[in-house]
Amino acid sequence: MTAVTDTSGAADAPVRVGVAIIGAGFSGLGAAIKLTQHGFEDVLLLDRGTTFGGTWRDNTYPGAACDVPSHLYSYSFEPNPGWSRSYGRGPEIHAYIERVAAKYDIASRTRFSTEVTEAHWDDAEQAWRLATSTGPVVASFLVGAVGPLCEPKLPEIDGIEDFGGEVFHSARWNHDYDLTGKRVAVIGTGASAVQIIPELAGTVGRLDVYQRTAPWVLPRTDRPYLDAERTLFRRTPIVQKTSRTAIYAGHELVSFGLTYRPNILKPLEWLGRANIARAISDPELRAKVTPRWKVGCKRMLLSNTYYPALARENVDVVTDPIAKITPTAVVTKDGTVREIDALVVATGFHVTDSPAFATIHGADGRSLADVWAEGGMTAYKGSAVHGFPNLFLMVGPSTGLGHTSMIFMIESQLNYLIGQLSTMRERGLAAVDVRAGVQRDYNEGLQKTLADSVWETGGCSSWYKDRFGNITTLWPGFTFVFRRATRTFDLPAYDAVPAHTRVPVRAAS
Ligand code: NAP
Repeated sequence: MTAVTDTSGAADAPVRVGVAIIGAGFSGLGAAIKLTQHGFEDVLLLDRGTTFGGTWRDNTYPGAACDVPSHLYSYSFEPNPGWSRSYGRGPEIHAYIERVAAKYDIASRTRFSTEVTEAHWDDAEQAWRLATSTGPVVASFLVGAVGPLCEPKLPEIDGIEDFGGEVFHSARWNHDYDLTGKRVAVIGTGASAVQIIPELAGTVGRLDVYQRTAPWVLPRTDRPYLDAERTLFRRTPIVQKTSRTAIYAGHELVSFGLTYRPNILKPLEWLGRANIARAISDPELRAKVTPRWKVGCKRMLLSNTYYPALARENVDVVTDPIAKITPTAVVTKDGTVREIDALVVATGFHVTDSPAFATIHGADGRSLADVWAEGGMTAYKGSAVHGFPNLFLMVGPSTGLGHTSMIFMIESQLNYLIGQLSTMRERGLAAVDVRAGVQRDYNEGLQKTLADSVWETGGCSSWYKDRFGNITTLWPGFTFVFRRATRTFDLPAYDAVPAHTRVPVRAAS
């Protein structure tokens, strides 16, 4: 596969490729690198943005940083001895992704500013037909790597669309709007908000923080790396590798508590309470920000600056529910009107109801959204969905994590992807489609494992659960179990179509 530079949108004939990848973030880029390394050269990466990076390109809000230490939050095959801090900040992580993309020359296989509007499986051709904003593409195999946190979710609040000031979502930060000295409201107190609030508190005039549910915020052990440490990592890679392994092992211990024994996580709640007590002396504010659910039920957050920001004179934590938004103010149910100049919504993403699901149509013409509307978002090994032959979802259903690096899960999936395509190549298969029964049994097993988890029993409501009440976003248990499950491709779990017959895949129960 050579450089793909035609972005005219006027192409009559579709571009034909072996593998099309939608999304050039951590998972899509990783897929492109691994595929080309394994001899699958005919790869085309499509992304609606203009650079690599996905979530780290889009989330440029002040204070954006990762909650997983840098040595673990990077590709195992591209360690970076030069991390400036123990926890990477947004711009540095984005620069790392760009550097890796350049090293493997993935730009020459990428079409940026290209939105995939529809993808249809063509049974007769045994291929995916893609409609994109820069012309049609036909691909034998499709990798969906759009990421679960890519479609911003705006709160459904009366009057929000009539607000006359500046409104922006955490993942669409407006850097042209200067918030200095302004009256600002932040809606949400999740992972994004706890990073934004400390950055704004010192520069805005007033800050109203609208908290629906108090999060557990634990101390952050972030620090700059010394030059000597970076030199050591560079000269002695085994030291960095050992550090990575130690970080990984420590985080896996938490997963045992999250999935099997939530009570052993109690000491983390003590740390959270100490974090509050250290920064906040007002008993009323302390009570307001102390969570009433078990640590881990929602994502655990890390910050040393969040509570000090809430304790500032110019910051108010508002827990009365929002009744409506007027052109100039936020009005709470108790009737209080708080005038503002700008509104920051840090209200998360469409995860289990992403609009992207409606664009991918399987063998019977139905979309992922149609199929998942019936019973929830499920897949086999987070990657394959029955009725969608030759589709591989990166960071698909039940692969998310609340405690460690998604890059570990991504690399596990990449093993499985390479295994799948190598098997298809060796056996001369045109298509594979996971069996419905296999997918169903797999997901029943996951739900059983989740029954005693803190996400089920911790007394919170979270986006980890879908509207059917199932947790279809998270991987339960140890991540090395997922690594083992994805080490090799298990062809017997799939219906397969030999290339020479091209007989359409039939639904199997
Ligand atoms: P989030 O964790 O889903 O938080 C959304 C916040 O908005 C919650 O506090 C939620 O309250 C509130 N909210 C939602 N709708 C609301 C409404 N109508 N009225 C009032 N409040 C409302 O979203 P996020 O902070 O963007 O984070 C999403 C995910 O991105 C994280 O879980 C994490 O995986 C990732 N992330 C990671 C980092 C990091 O590594 N440091 C940073 C940012 C994001 P409730 O709790 O009551 O629902």
